[in-house]
Amino acid sequence: MSPPNNNGKVVVVGSINQDLTTYTPSLPQPGETLLGSDFVTSAGGKGSNQAVAAASIGIVQEKGGVHMIGRVGNDDMGKSLLRGLKSCRVQISENESVLTSGAIHTGVASIVVDVASGQNTIVVSPGANLALGPEEVSSSLTKILSDSSADAQNVVLVQLEISHESALEALKTAKRLGALSILNPAPAPKNWELTNEWYSTIDILIPNESELASICGVSNGDRGGVTGEGEEAMAKTLLDRGVQHAVIVTLGARGAMIVRRNTTRKKGADASLGDDFETIMICEPDALPYKSQPVIDTVGAGDAFCGALAAYLSRGVELDRAASLACGVASMSVRKRGAQESYPKANELPACLR
Ligand code: ADP
Repeated sequence: MSPPNNNGKVVVVGSINQDLTTYTPSLPQPGETLLGSDFVTSAGGKGSNQAVAAASIGIVQEKGGVHMIGRVGNDDMGKSLLRGLKSCRVQISENESVLTSGAIHTGVASIVVDVASGQNTIVVSPGANLALGPEEVSSSLTKILSDSSADAQNVVLVQLEISHESALEALKTAKRLGALSILNPAPAPKNWELTNEWYSTIDILIPNESELASICGVSNGDRGGVTGEGEEAMAKTLLDRGVQHAVIVTLGARGAMIVRRNTTRKKGADASLGDDFETIMICEPDALPYKSQPVIDTVGAGDAFCGALAAYLSRGVELDRAASLACGVASMSVRKRGAQESYPKANELPACLR
């Protein structure tokens, strides 16, 4: 089989939100009115974050491009968010129905941050994000991927801030069209079990530690501590249940862990259960120049990882290296405040991440 060319597309199917963040001296109690000390509006939503992370680093070829399928309301916030996506070189023009008609508002996240403790409360009103229907996902994705060359490595990246029906349709369509399908199961609903229908459509699953535990129905106390053994066992369970290629668990400051099917395993009498999978610990490249700088804010780090991973994979970069480079991009993002504002731009990308 010839290696894929590096003109693949990245298509993100997911949420587009307006984040409204108020900074306060304490978190408000029920019935209490507080005066905030500062207020910031920013573009957010996991889908939008991941598309911006993939596009900002500027490594996806012009012929491929980063595309977004999502829905905003026909209101000022929605129009401004679409302008923002375009300015970050995320392509939305092929998906004309991105603006909703009618009275559905753009998705909004109302965030209150206690400046003293750093703790926050977040209320998300998904609005138009939930109006993105499965038929629209399937037809937009088909349209975007229809002119790809047969050997391009297209990547479809999906999260769970849209309806589950639409998320599943995105994964199914990706598989049908020969693209690599990635699910970032965030936010992971409590007591949500992935069914076989989901497993068969997911090439790569990327949970963080708490999402992994939720999907596996494991309580926080039973996760195996910081050794990573608990995460490894849970990832193997998900591969056993049917995830197609790999589970990548993001581990915060510890980097990430890839657990995948072992393609070179021994056959016959020498084979043991342990031979079915291989586990690789991933961290950012040694040459990354930002490691000694202080961590400022980890908001949106998981989205930076997912978006960057999709971008590198669309260039034909092999999974282990793509994950290490994505750790590098996410590690740069935690050295700046905010989510999308913290993602490195092409001209900031050090040579070791190109
Ligand atoms: P999420 O944001 O979904 O909770 P993680 O906290 O696992 O995800 O972070 C995602 C990625 O961001 C990690 O795999 C790592 O590459 C990077 N990262 C997160 N926190 C740090 C940190 N404190 N130092 C360096 N890199 C970090």
